[in-house]
Amino acid sequence: MILAEGNTSIRADAASFWVKASGQSLHEISEQGFVQVAFEPILRALDQRLQDSEVKALLEEASLARNGSRPSVETFMHAWLLQLANVNVVIHTHPTDCLGDLCQTTAPAWIEERIFPDEIVCCGRKAVWVPYEDPGLILAKRIAERVTAFIETEGEVPKVIALQNHGIITLGETGAQAMAATRMTVKAVRARHLSTAISKPLSRTEIDRIHVRPDEHYRQRMLWGASGFLSSPNEGSRSGQDQQ
Ligand SMILES: [Zn+2]
Repeated sequence: MILAEGNTSIRADAASFWVKASGQSLHEISEQGFVQVAFEPILRALDQRLQDSEVKALLEEASLARNGSRPSVETFMHAWLLQLANVNVVIHTHPTDCLGDLCQTTAPAWIEERIFPDEIVCCGRKAVWVPYEDPGLILAKRIAERVTAFIETEGEVPKVIALQNHGIITLGETGAQAMAATRMTVKAVRARHLSTAISKPLSRTEIDRIHVRPDEHYRQRMLWGASGFLSSPNEGSRSGQDQQ
């Protein structure tokens, strides 16, 4: 990590969440590096077209504790993703190993393919691919579109979202689960780079088998305290419940 790259968020309660303040480095961040933000004004902005100055004013307005810090410009995508079923933690990073693949013209193989079982356990059966967008509000809108389409076709919330020319986002019920998805994505990318031959992807049958194995669900509960990574299709979004 070179600059104050990447950002993280965690759900605080039904109405608010903590998100990294702009300019804070994740490497040495403490409690003071986070800002508590209300969901409602941030989610409302996703339906609007705002100028840069209006985005800045909105982020300040949505901040609950004004300690001089400003929430990250990526607060919009954090708010939207934290509305998804079983998602309490969002981690966004720019790992060097992943960036090499993400800065190419087409989606890397690790979006659609899986080559070893723990890649499925930590990262799910597939990742979401998001073509390059301007970071901030516009990127959040594009992520919302692509993740909604993924939930419709895959019947579950994704664990990994890959942003072209930018970085990755991982989702978790707990911080340990989201961190495992980040580290396993980096491991899977490195494993592909280490191979001198073309990787042999697992078949869809092999992937589905790992995805539903009870012993893998047990491992997840033991490792991360997560209740499981399968979501039923109609559990895709919790926003309907929360906003009523
Ligand atoms: Zn970023």
